[in-house]
Amino acid sequence: MELYFLGHMAWAYVWAMLAWALIPGVKRTGKLIVPAILLLGILPDADLLFSSLGVMHRTFTHSFFFWIIIFLPLFIIFRLKSIPYFVAVVQHFAFGDLLMGKVMIFWPFNKSMVGFNIGMPSLIDVALETAGLLLTLGIIVYSGDLKRLFSVNKSNILMLLPLLALATSALFFASHWPSINLFIPYILSSNLQIALTIGHIILFAFIAISALQGLRALRPKRALQR
Ligand SMILES: [Zn+2]
Repeated sequence: MELYFLGHMAWAYVWAMLAWALIPGVKRTGKLIVPAILLLGILPDADLLFSSLGVMHRTFTHSFFFWIIIFLPLFIIFRLKSIPYFVAVVQHFAFGDLLMGKVMIFWPFNKSMVGFNIGMPSLIDVALETAGLLLTLGIIVYSGDLKRLFSVNKSNILMLLPLLALATSALFFASHWPSINLFIPYILSSNLQIALTIGHIILFAFIAISALQGLRALRPKRALQR
């Protein structure tokens, strides 16, 4: 994974919002679909799901060329509007994974694994994940997205998707441990693990509240029926 889903999702939002705010003309295309940004931030790691089929982790799904091909129709149809979503997926391997690990970023032209390989969990890794989370929370409040994401609105039901992805990653991580009796002491064994766990819980809670607000929009409005 190189960066946990916490960092990948948080930095996806940060980089996408920077692209949205700074690239001329993008802002005029409308607000970002935040659940899509969060999902794209972790999508390259979908290769983990196909490891049983022989797909190697951090290879072609972590390459510029692969995502340029995938996004080509979106660039043609949505033009400027598609850029923050492209940024969200590219930052996964060109920022997070490149710093913390090694990725096949120039596949298929060059199949060498490139990166700074700082490693995780390390102090730098946890600092980067925490910085991403804090920046995300700050930008969400400053941009007015907090109001949008916490409002009773059907569009927030989409937050169930990143919520499911986070839950799946937690299960995937926990499944490497033979029992919960070994897993819990491991989490509590270092301050870095505790910080990462707290960060994940904050992100999970944030997304869960938004998804719940979306589901509340489905309730019949009794007051109006009277
Ligand atoms: Zn990755």
